[in-house]
Amino acid sequence: MNEMKWKSEFANQIHKSEFPDQWNLCVDMDLSKQERGLYYSQHTFASFRCSFCPRSWNSSKVYVLFLLNLRNHGTVRMRIFRQDCERCQQGFLEEPEITPENIKNAVYNLIHKIQKTFYEPNDSTQEQKAKTYGILDGPHNREHCEGCRLGFCENEGNPMQNSAQGSFAPVLWGALAVGAVGAIALCSAFASNNKKESKK
Ligand SMILES: [Zn+2]
Ligand SMILES: [Zn+2]
Repeated sequence: MNEMKWKSEFANQIHKSEFPDQWNLCVDMDLSKQERGLYYSQHTFASFRCSFCPRSWNSSKVYVLFLLNLRNHGTVRMRIFRQDCERCQQGFLEEPEITPENIKNAVYNLIHKIQKTFYEPNDSTQEQKAKTYGILDGPHNREHCEGCRLGFCENEGNPMQNSAQGSFAPVLWGALAVGAVGAIALCSAFASNNKKESKK
């Protein structure tokens, strides 16, 4: 997990966007869809390398889930879902290797989501697609995708099959304000990273 790369790319792009609030990003590998806030997700491209056999593979369906909250300052919690090797069946979830370019693209999309949601509802910026490299091994292998197994990944765009997502919308806006408390506690360790200089 390139957490530092994600955080510095996020801090960079947030700085350029000049939002009136401070925003932080942190990784939360336990993030689920049971929490309060605005959920946003993307699929990106990554490569994987098995820890047990020589196999490596590429996937353009690496699921990345974000939870956005804004209260006093903005927080984004992020979870990147892993995949395991279909050849040796060890069930060990490997971390995706995402190129700096694709991290940049994903953060760009995230920043525009923040912009559209909290500051400029009319922002019509198109999402950037992840760049793919090398060979893709056929259709998404749901059995070996952590996101699919937990019911996130392939259910995207089909809320009828995803009760967590479907039930979320009605409470979404009310939850934006109160949902930040837990996120702030979790992200507070990183809060100084892109904090704007405060006046003394
Ligand atoms: Zn393997
Ligand atoms: Zn999946």
